[in-house]
Amino acid sequence: MLRYRLSLLVILLGSQVLAQDNAEFFKSVSELRKKTEPKNLTKLLLNITNRILTKPELKNAEHFELISKRIPSKSAFREVLYLQLAFSFKLCSKKAKYIEYQELLKKSYPNSSLLKAFDKKYFGKRCPTCKKNNTPETIGKIEAKCMKCLGTGKCARRCKNGKIQGHSKMLKCTTCNGLGKCKNCDGKKVILQNCVNCTDGYSVTKKTIKAFYKEITKELKE
Ligand SMILES: [Zn+2]
Ligand SMILES: [Zn+2]
Ligand SMILES: [Zn+2]
Repeated sequence: MLRYRLSLLVILLGSQVLAQDNAEFFKSVSELRKKTEPKNLTKLLLNITNRILTKPELKNAEHFELISKRIPSKSAFREVLYLQLAFSFKLCSKKAKYIEYQELLKKSYPNSSLLKAFDKKYFGKRCPTCKKNNTPETIGKIEAKCMKCLGTGKCARRCKNGKIQGHSKMLKCTTCNGLGKCKNCDGKKVILQNCVNCTDGYSVTKKTIKAFYKEITKELKE
C-alpha cells in the first residue's frame, strides 16, 4: 500500500511539472497566434486539427499537408503550421515526415519558441521498452535474439571453435575466419534492432500531442 502511494505521488508530481511546462509553452503559442491571423485559415486549421485528433490516420495528415501547401509562403502562421504538421505525422507514426517538419521549423524560424515542443522534456518520456539503451548508437533500439545463430553466438554447427573437419584434418573455418563466432551478431547472441514501441528512444507521446492539439484548438476558437 505504501509503495502504491509512493508511486502515485511520483506520478502526480511528475505530471504537475509537465503541466506547468506545457502551460508556459501554450502561452507562447497563443502569443504567436495573436500576431498573425488570417481568419479563414484559422477555421480551416481548426477543422483539420480536430479531424487528426479524432482520427490520427495517415491520409488525414497527408490531406493536411496538401492544404498547408496552399498557404502563402510569407504567412507567419506557417510557424505554427509546421509544428502542427510535425505532430500530425508523429500521431500517425510517420517518422520521416515528423522529422522533415521539425527541421523545416528549425530552419525557417531558428528562434521560434515553438521549438520547445521538440525538447523531449516537454513532449516525451523515455520509451519504457528500450530505456536501458542510452548511448547514441543504441538509443531507440532493442536487443533481439540473433536468428542466424539462434542465440548461441556460435558460427555454423559444423564449425567447432573456428575449425571444420576436413578429409584428414581440421581446417580453419572460412566463414568465421577461425574465430568460431557468429558473424551476424559477432558472438553476442543478440542483435540490435529498431524498438517496436518508439522511433527515437522516446515514447510516441500521443497523449501529450493530443493535449497540445486540444490547447491549440482552444486557441483557434478564441
Ligand atoms: Zn523504444
Ligand atoms: Zn566458423
Ligand atoms: Zn548470431
